[in-house]
Amino acid sequence: MTDRAPNAIHLVDLTRQYAAIKGEIDAAIQQTLNRGTFASNQSVAAFEEEFAQYCGVKHCVCVNSGTSALHLAMIASEVHAGDEVITVPFTFVATAWAISYVGARPIFVDIEPWGCNLDAEKLARAIGPKTRAVVPVHLYGQMADLEPIRELCEKNGLALIEDAAQAHGGEYKGQRAGGYGHIGCFSFYPTKNLGACGESGAITTNDEKIAERIRHLRDHAQTSKYRHEELGFNYRMDEMQGAILRVKLRYLEDWNAARSRIARYYINKLTETPLVLPSELPDRRHVWHLFVVRAPDRDKLRQELSKASIDAGLHYPIPLHLQPAYRHLGYRQGDFPTAEQIARECLSLPLYPELEESEINRVCDVVASSA
Ligand SMILES: *Cc1c(COP(=O)(O)O)cnc(C)c1O
Repeated sequence: MTDRAPNAIHLVDLTRQYAAIKGEIDAAIQQTLNRGTFASNQSVAAFEEEFAQYCGVKHCVCVNSGTSALHLAMIASEVHAGDEVITVPFTFVATAWAISYVGARPIFVDIEPWGCNLDAEKLARAIGPKTRAVVPVHLYGQMADLEPIRELCEKNGLALIEDAAQAHGGEYKGQRAGGYGHIGCFSFYPTKNLGACGESGAITTNDEKIAERIRHLRDHAQTSKYRHEELGFNYRMDEMQGAILRVKLRYLEDWNAARSRIARYYINKLTETPLVLPSELPDRRHVWHLFVVRAPDRDKLRQELSKASIDAGLHYPIPLHLQPAYRHLGYRQGDFPTAEQIARECLSLPLYPELEESEINRVCDVVASSA
């Protein structure tokens, strides 16, 4: 949000969302302040129940970020130092951080080009004797092809951990994100489809034992007052975020529907351009966290948009196997051609529920004349 031109179009503008529900958000914050029980877990526990129901799972345990959710998911899945965990090279880096935090090794498998998610056909070849878990990412709001992935996990006794940080409310064959694998990991980072006013995240699961373990781990692994059975963390979600998220959850379906309308509008207006457009795959409900097109001359298009005061994003410009932090893994340029090509061509256009038709038209006009 560097461009301050009065007619600038931002990738996301959270001031509009706040303006629309200000009364309820302010009341939730005020009520929390009045109560003074910031360490009580009251709103957090209520939100956990509501979000579990929303995702169609038995349990939700909130934590202080999506990264923490992934970290605790690794521990609860018994991933240990020296183990291998398979994930994609084309995601936000936190997916792989969690694997590294427990001393395990990320093994990357390329994505498929139509949905930019884990290529289930390539997954089979990457499973080896040290593999403990698979972490598909539901990138941009569309779920990965989980049925063949789950079959492979079951056959090989692997934990299936969904990185659902971009897919609140996304569906695959009638099942919502976070409920198809053993554990689902969510982020409520402010710009996600469901975002807090600060940091927070959650795990979802149908496994009572996993929920219980993560509930302990996030709170210093406390099993009863001042008794600690294992190494724990301070990963609790704060009460203020719980109160705010309870309000926002009631709007999530409307917001996701608005995102979907905007995405369809974009697709209709841009079909004649040479861009590769995103699409909703069969058996899925895409929740359009991001609207990412592919342009052969991406940098030029981005420049033209910038001249017109329109923000466009790169999700993501450097695949994880080429990140300096992961040099030690020994991957090279050319190892994952689909991820590398999409990293070069991807461009995220502005999309958020309150974006106006006149603004979308302006974006489309610039894209049509420069692509
Ligand atoms: C946002 C995100 C995360 C990390 O969530 P934080 O709340 O920022 O820690 C992990 N994975 C993916 C795919 C994300 O988009």
